[in-house]
Amino acid sequence: MRILVAFLPLILMAHTPDLNELKRMSARFAKTPLEVDVSKLSTGDRKALVKLVEAAHLIDDIFLTQYWSGNQELWRKLQMDKTPLGQARVHYFWLSKGPWSALDGGRAFLPDVPAEKVPGANFYPEGMKKEEFEAWVKGLPKDQHELAEGFFSVIHRENGHLVAVPFSKEYGPRLERLAKLLREAAADTENASLKKFLTLRADAFLSNDYYASDVAWMDLDAPLDITIGPYETYNDEIFGYKASFEAYINVRDEKETQKIGFFSDHMQDIENALPIDGKYRNPKIGALSPIRVVNQVIATGDGAHGVRTAAYNLPNDERVTAQKGSKRVMLKNVQDAKFEAALVPIAKRVLPAADQESLSFESFFTHILAHEMTHGIGPHEIAVNGRKTTPRQEIKELYSAIEEAKADVTGLFMLQQMMDRKQVPSAEKQLYTTFLASAFRSLRFGLNEAHGKGMALQFNYLMDKGAFVAHPDGTFSVDLSKIKGAVRDLDHDLLMIEATGNYAGAKRMLDTLGHVRPVVQKAIDGLTDIPTDIDPVDVTANKLAAR
Ligand code: ZN
Repeated sequence: MRILVAFLPLILMAHTPDLNELKRMSARFAKTPLEVDVSKLSTGDRKALVKLVEAAHLIDDIFLTQYWSGNQELWRKLQMDKTPLGQARVHYFWLSKGPWSALDGGRAFLPDVPAEKVPGANFYPEGMKKEEFEAWVKGLPKDQHELAEGFFSVIHRENGHLVAVPFSKEYGPRLERLAKLLREAAADTENASLKKFLTLRADAFLSNDYYASDVAWMDLDAPLDITIGPYETYNDEIFGYKASFEAYINVRDEKETQKIGFFSDHMQDIENALPIDGKYRNPKIGALSPIRVVNQVIATGDGAHGVRTAAYNLPNDERVTAQKGSKRVMLKNVQDAKFEAALVPIAKRVLPAADQESLSFESFFTHILAHEMTHGIGPHEIAVNGRKTTPRQEIKELYSAIEEAKADVTGLFMLQQMMDRKQVPSAEKQLYTTFLASAFRSLRFGLNEAHGKGMALQFNYLMDKGAFVAHPDGTFSVDLSKIKGAVRDLDHDLLMIEATGNYAGAKRMLDTLGHVRPVVQKAIDGLTDIPTDIDPVDVTANKLAAR
C-alpha cells in the first residue's frame, strides 16, 4: 500500500489544455532536486547502486507499456514535437507517465486519447467485460485459474478466446535485462541480505514466482534499501488483481534508523503512561511492524507518476504478510522536499512572523515517525460487555478517522513524555508550531479522507481548549501554557473511544468537530497558489548514470 502526503483536489477540464494552461498545471509540482549522500557507502555498494539506477530506468519502460496500450507510441510521437507546446506536453506526460492528469480527476490533457484512464490499464483486452472474465476463469484448471487472477499476468484475446500470459513471457526481453543487472549488483554488494534479495528477485523476473524474493525483501536490512518489481494493483481498476512495476532505489538513513531503535525500546513505557485508566493499558504490547527510513536516489514506474509517494507498506501478497507481516519504508528526503515545497510557504501565511523560525523539518519528521509507531500502542484487543472484539470492529466506518487522530495525538503525547524525561532534546515550540502549520497542509485537501477528517477534529478540539489561537490578522499560533494539557485530554478522549468501542461517542465527536470552521476555511482559501506536490530532479541518480 502506498501513502501519499497530499490528497487530490479536483479541477474539471473539458478541453485539451494549451501551452499556458499546461504551464499552470506543471507549476503545481515544484521542481525539487533530490540529493543523497552516497559517500559513506562501501565501494561494492556504490558499484551496485549504478547498476540499480540503470535497472530502475528499465522499470519506467515496462510501466509505460502496462499503463496504457497506446502509451509507448504516444511517448515516441510526443518527443518528436520540438515546439513549446510539444515540450510542455512531454514534460507533463513524463510527470504523469501517461496522457491523464492525476490532479485533475484523471482527465486527459492530450488530444486523441481516451478521455480518462482505461479502467483495466493494459492488463486486459480493451472492451473486455467483467462477466466475460469471470465466466472464463471459472472453467479453468487450478494453476491457470491462479495465473489468470494473480498479480503477475496479463490477459490477452487470442482467436476470440481469453488467455493469461505471465509477466515473464509478456515482458520477457526486458525482464531478462533487469535480471542481469540485479545479478551484477548482487555480485557487487558485500551485504548478504541485499545479495539474497537481488538474486531471488532476478530469479523471480524469469520464473514469475515472486514469493521467495518477497520474503527476502522483508529480511532486507542493508545500507542500500531496494524495492523493485511488480507491486501495487491500483491501476487495475476492474479487479485490482494486476501488479504494476515500480522501483525505489534508496539509501538507508542511519540517524533515523537509530532513532527508531530508541523509540521501539521505549514504546512499552509510553503505553504504561497513556492518559487512560490502567485497566485499559496493555501490559505487554505486541511486536511493532518494521519501519525503515531511507533517502530516495530514484523512483520509477508506478512509483513515479502524479503525486509522489512519501512512504509505502509492502508487500501486498497475503501469503507473505501472513508469515512475515509487512514493512513500512519512509522516504525522508521526499518528505523533506514536500515540506520545503508546500509547508514552508503555507507556514509563511498561517503563522505569525514571530513563530516562523519554529517551523522545523526535524520536528515534522520525528512526529511522523511517532505517529507511525503509536499506531502500534493503545487499545487493540478490547472487551465490550464481556465480548472480545477490536476497536475497528466496533467503531466501523468511523474507525480510520479516529485512529489517524489518535496516532497524531498519541505521537505528540509520546514526544512530550520523552522531552519531559530528557530522553530527547526539548523542542516543544517547534513540535507544536510545526504540527499546527502541517494541519493546514492536510486540511487544504478536504475532508474526504480519514486523515483530513481526523485533523479537523483535532484542530477544533485544540482551538476550543485555547491551545490553538486564531488571530484577527488571519494567522494562528500555539498557546504553550495550554497545549500540553489539551493534548493529554484529547488523547484521553480518543483512547477511551477505542478502549470501550464507543461508536456513538466517535460519531458525536466527529459530528461536532469533524468540520472546517469558517475562520480556518478563510486561511485555507489563501493557499491555493502554493504547490501541491513536487517534481523531483534525480540529481544523485543522474550523476551516477553519467559515470
Ligand atoms: Zn496513520
